[in-house]
Amino acid sequence: MHFEHTEEERLFRAAVREFVQSEISPHAARWEEEERFPWDTWRQLAELGVCGVALPAEYGGGGGGKTLMCIATEELSRASAGLATAYLVGCGIALDGICKHGTEAQKKEYVTRCASGEVAFFALTEAAGGSDLGTMQTRYRETDSGYSLTGTKTFISNGEESSFGVVFASKKPGEGHRGVSAFILNKDIPGCSVGKKEKKTGQLCSSTTEIVLDDCVLPRESMLGKEGHGVRIALEAIDKSRVAVAAQALGIAAAAYDESIRYAKERQAFGKALGQLQTIQWMIADMSTELEAARLLTYSAASLIDEGNPAIRESAMAKLFATEAAGRICHNAVQIFGGYGYIRETPVERFSRDQRVTEIYEGTSEMQRWAIARQVLKMK
Ligand SMILES: Cc1cc2nc3c(=O)[nH]c(=O)nc-3n(C[C@H](O)[C@H](O)[C@H](O)COP(=O)(O)OP(=O)(O)OC[C@H]3O[C@@H](n4cnc5c(N)ncnc54)[C@H](O)[C@@H]3O)c2cc1C
Repeated sequence: MHFEHTEEERLFRAAVREFVQSEISPHAARWEEEERFPWDTWRQLAELGVCGVALPAEYGGGGGGKTLMCIATEELSRASAGLATAYLVGCGIALDGICKHGTEAQKKEYVTRCASGEVAFFALTEAAGGSDLGTMQTRYRETDSGYSLTGTKTFISNGEESSFGVVFASKKPGEGHRGVSAFILNKDIPGCSVGKKEKKTGQLCSSTTEIVLDDCVLPRESMLGKEGHGVRIALEAIDKSRVAVAAQALGIAAAAYDESIRYAKERQAFGKALGQLQTIQWMIADMSTELEAARLLTYSAASLIDEGNPAIRESAMAKLFATEAAGRICHNAVQIFGGYGYIRETPVERFSRDQRVTEIYEGTSEMQRWAIARQVLKMK
């Protein structure tokens, strides 16, 4: 069993929860309405050490692991899933490859910048296909001084807020995974621009945009890892980040559940509280059970990763179950709130919109099932 929190983890959760309750919960709905990224709050998170908690201590991080990252993600998601996405991408998946494959100079520059409050992006997806990386059209060619990149990445979280990120391009578009390399890119270089900003269903305080590369010239030292190892670097990062998306779904579901319990005790129907009606009790029982199962799967996978286990199957299971359970929990929460669950004044309406994409990004549920089945069949 891999889910008992240590004293350090419990204290960290309490500190993040206190910050979330005082600095995020009162404002999160307004940030969504205004579609505004809360820069002041982000900087406070960096000062508190939350942004860098899972980054190496020698570059300004906290030296913690995936469990601490998941705790922070879960707690942020209880109030603002959009901010949590900025976090799990900007301080998680975008930095994973840099920490693992970066040169000393790359780690020193980019990990330090992230820990001190800059936001990063991870640009893999293109219009032709997010699940099938073999369709990648963004290409690079060698120049005298380095590389030139051309292409458009779609659906990139932190597209507006980020100052740098990791981008994947192929030397031989049309030849599948072969020839794909990873690069670290500062967004202010000539030829790089932010394209279309998507109008999303939820998570509106965090931007999702295109990143457009038009003969974008990068120095030789911007390549991340070995040439041709891009897909490997991307998949390793996604495998490790899945559990953070599970934690995000868990946080959204926990918030929807808490609201449902409160409402079921307060709201009267037919002369009694909703919570005294068996139909509502059964919904609450299902929600409670799924939430607990999602929590166990998530923190079990996170602790396996912290022990050095790749935990590909466990992370995929955690993401698959937690995100789909969160969908059912948010659905029930809206149902318990009745008509009020469908209007913007109640938070469960927002939670149900914010949850949906957790079943899609960083690998859809179908891709998680594929990953789990491959691991299981290999084991037998
Ligand atoms: C809000 C948001 C933020 C995002 N942030 C980022 C980001 O920061 N960086 C980034 O690179 N990307 C990001 N994405 C992209 C996201 O990862 C992709 O949308 C996702 O991987 C799915 O790709 P797709 O949309 O092209 O769907 P497709 O790959 O076209 O899939 C469509 C449907 O077909 C199914 N399908 C496809 N192939 C198979 C198969 N072999 N077996 C079974 N079913 C299959 C899928 O599961 C899905 O149901 C983001 C997306 C959104 C919506």
